[in-house]
Amino acid sequence: MIGQPLWKNLKALVEIDNNIKQLKEKVKGEIQKVETSKSLIPKIQKNLLDLQLNCKEMKKKVDAEELIANDLKDKEEHKREALDKTTNEKEYRAIEKEIKRVTLERMELEDVLIQSWHKYDLAKKEVDEQEEQINKEIEETKVKTTELETELKESQKKLDSALADREFSTKNIPTEWLHKYERMKENVSNPIVPVIQNSCSACFYNVIRQDLQRLKNDGMLLCRNCYRFLYYEKEEEKEENSGSF
Ligand SMILES: [Zn+2]
Repeated sequence: MIGQPLWKNLKALVEIDNNIKQLKEKVKGEIQKVETSKSLIPKIQKNLLDLQLNCKEMKKKVDAEELIANDLKDKEEHKREALDKTTNEKEYRAIEKEIKRVTLERMELEDVLIQSWHKYDLAKKEVDEQEEQINKEIEETKVKTTELETELKESQKKLDSALADREFSTKNIPTEWLHKYERMKENVSNPIVPVIQNSCSACFYNVIRQDLQRLKNDGMLLCRNCYRFLYYEKEEEKEENSGSF
């Protein structure tokens, strides 16, 4: 690059900068994708945990109800034993009444227990069905995340390389011109344009004769109207002419 006209070095810089801009956007998008993919995993895991927790709660309910049912059964048995032992008629009737009450309570509870078992069975079935599916989904998401991370790493590597290219490339450009270029780059996407038919090809402002001569001697100037960098290249002018006729 050293030894070639300044405008060629600047044009090379424009290309590098455009590439850097694209790569930065790409990296930004890919970071977003990785983050989205990563954030999916805890969400999927939570779905499974909720189902498992729900199932556990139902089992707890079933167990608690069974304990009470057994307790009632024991009570009933003891009372029947007491009934067999008693000889007092009044006491007999009282115990009999109590047995009826406990039996009724136990039967009611058993109805509830059947419902609870049914609900627990359904919840357990759902967990079993979903568990495999959800674990598969988690694995797939992990694989996808890794793929996205690899893509991101590649893009970051390319960006680092482009930034290094830029640093190298700016060494061939005088600081003064570099600063002018940086400022122009902020405002327009095409800071360096060729002179075509004696005019700035961006704003069509006429280039005066002395300036044109300087440009033709591989010089570089700023357009007096739009301040873009101007250069002259025979080939580009030829192409432009053949295109318009
Ligand atoms: Zn111009």
